[in-house]
Amino acid sequence: MKFTIVGSGTLVPDADRGSAGFLVEEQGTRLLVDGGSGTITRLKKLGVDARELDGGIYSHRHVDHCADLVPILFALKVGVDIPRTRDYPIWAGEGFHAFLEGLYSTYGTWIRSDRWTTQVTELSLGGPGRALLPGGVVLDTLPANHSAGALHLRFTSPSGFTAVFSGDTGPNENLAILASGVDLLVTECAVPGKDPWDSHLSPDDVAALVDAARPRRVILTHLYPENDPVAALARVARVGVPVERGYDGLAVEG
Ligand SMILES: [Zn+2]
Ligand SMILES: [Zn+2]
Repeated sequence: MKFTIVGSGTLVPDADRGSAGFLVEEQGTRLLVDGGSGTITRLKKLGVDARELDGGIYSHRHVDHCADLVPILFALKVGVDIPRTRDYPIWAGEGFHAFLEGLYSTYGTWIRSDRWTTQVTELSLGGPGRALLPGGVVLDTLPANHSAGALHLRFTSPSGFTAVFSGDTGPNENLAILASGVDLLVTECAVPGKDPWDSHLSPDDVAALVDAARPRRVILTHLYPENDPVAALARVARVGVPVERGYDGLAVEG
């Protein structure tokens, strides 16, 4: 499995860091994980045409994580394999189907086709969720401490490689449970200190998470500009697990 960071940034405009977006590739299948604005372009810079994606997984419905869903569905109408007949399945937390219906009511046939469907599979916001993804990847989820139907996501390849993406979250033991002993933990580290709204992680929070879960490798992403990356990395590194800051285009294979 190959896990690529497509966008390592936030909703704050940044010339070098796109909104949240990731790519999971396994046995010839390509699944987009999140995808804020600009994801289509950043995918193309990585050599991936969004019209060839096999589906999408969404950690939650905030704009910096899903804004490019409309452009993707619109682009599928002009598919490289015209006419596209493959479905574009979506996995996300409960509520995503209604969210997508809202988009359909706004954009109508601009973003839907009678040749393919989006087949939304909703995962529980109240407990564990599991789905079998194309390529034989197993998706396990647990609810995150955020809003907009937020989930933590764990991908397990057929060979047993495990990668967790935190999504957006405040401190939450579910994330430590899901990330326990995984090969790769890609976690948000949005804020420099304790979030007064308890919906994002600070370096101290990530350090506690890493200490509890002991993943083999940690990548920090989604840092807001006020969060000094050098200080954040130094704080998390004290736990003793390899940690680095993610960047657009960083790929991990295992
Ligand atoms: Zn969010
Ligand atoms: Zn976010």
